[in-house]
Amino acid sequence: MKDAIWSDVKETLQGTLGANNFKNWIEPLDLYDLSGGIATFHVPTNFFGNYVSQNFGDQILYQIQRAHDAIGRLNFVVDKSNRPTAPKAAPAQVKKPVSANIDARFTFDSFVVGKPNELAHAAARKVAEGGPVSFNPLFLYGGVGLGKTHLMHAIAHELQRAKPELNVLYLSAEQFMYRFISALRERKMIDFKQMFRAVDVLMVDDVQFIAGKESTQEEFFHTFNALVDQNKQIILSADRAPGEIKDLEDRIKSRMQCGLVVDLHPTDYELRLGILQNKEQAFALQYPDVVLTDGVLEFMAHRIAMNVRILEGALTRLYAFASLVGREITLDLAQDCLADILRASDRKITVEEIQRKVADYYNIRLSDLVGSKRLRAFARPRQIAMYLSKRMTSRSLPDIGRRFGGKDHTTVMHGVKRVEELQMTDSQIADDIENLRRALEA
Ligand code: ADP
Ligand code: MG
Repeated sequence: MKDAIWSDVKETLQGTLGANNFKNWIEPLDLYDLSGGIATFHVPTNFFGNYVSQNFGDQILYQIQRAHDAIGRLNFVVDKSNRPTAPKAAPAQVKKPVSANIDARFTFDSFVVGKPNELAHAAARKVAEGGPVSFNPLFLYGGVGLGKTHLMHAIAHELQRAKPELNVLYLSAEQFMYRFISALRERKMIDFKQMFRAVDVLMVDDVQFIAGKESTQEEFFHTFNALVDQNKQIILSADRAPGEIKDLEDRIKSRMQCGLVVDLHPTDYELRLGILQNKEQAFALQYPDVVLTDGVLEFMAHRIAMNVRILEGALTRLYAFASLVGREITLDLAQDCLADILRASDRKITVEEIQRKVADYYNIRLSDLVGSKRLRAFARPRQIAMYLSKRMTSRSLPDIGRRFGGKDHTTVMHGVKRVEELQMTDSQIADDIENLRRALEA
């Protein structure tokens, strides 16, 4: 079965990734095992595995899941034929809370500051001084790949350098839960509590993860309060503002809002170009033979308006490919080699997508959104959806009206105007629109 699945998946990937990528990166993969929720591939080298995982991992996983939905992740293992494959690394056992899992590359030096992230950066810098706690917690939020984890790691580096005596603990909310549950199971709750209470600076990444997980939330809340009471610094991140995390207890939300809440905005052209230029310097050292021609970075910054992770991945792919085939990185090569990313970035947002997102967001039925009921609970989201359709698609007013159950263009125009006014006076609506826009662009 595994071979049949893999050969089907390969066939699809050949179509979506293009012949070059397929030949270089997919063909050499050997699907070795498909069990326990993991698809394990044999790869020739570690670099190869990392590269495939970063660049094509999502697409491979997506295709495998279509054929076998029990698979949740991919694993790439170097095949040393007669040597047994290395056992999976056990989760780091942290006795004394030290930041064992801090990425050496995520420093303030390597963080490019621009308009969209300057506030978050300034707040992170402030916390990294390790001085008296001035806001607690620092809550960083923003869409995926915009630098939240990078900033948290940068804080940890800086604290370790400047204040080595401080006990800094960084972990993801998922790890927090994992440790909490193992402590419960192994009857080590006292150790667990002691460990967390002994921290000077606690950073928990992606806290939206604990939403809906009641006992974890409960424990998190206690840990949080105990540290705040002792005036210890807490830094949290999430993919959205505290108030918008569904299924998170109100008392936790309000605690999170007590400190400084700053968001990382989607990147703009200047920031993207800055990040690419910064990365390029590192690549130039790593690949001294590869020539990058003028205009490629500008082209990428302009066309890949997605998150930084994708942007970086694109540049990595270009360098790896150019070095492999011994060619210069030209605009042509970039267009060819990044075809899939460029296509995804060009993706047009549709009115239907906007309607679905808005209905979801306000928890109303799609039929009520596009219908004619005048209840405020339907009418307001309807106007917001019309407004977003006008702003985010190239559809005309009559065209939008048709897609909202055959309404007149003047109705659409009125809706758009109304939302424009409301945006000025009602910060809740302004926030809602910003969130929706971000979700749609993600
Ligand atoms: P998030 O945690 O918000 O999803 P990450 O911090 O993991 O995002 O960032 C994704 C990638 O983008 C990382 O490799 C990170 O180094 C890089 N990155 C994000 N923002 C910046 C920036 N302003 N300057 C340099 N690299 C950045
Ligand atoms: Mg992150």
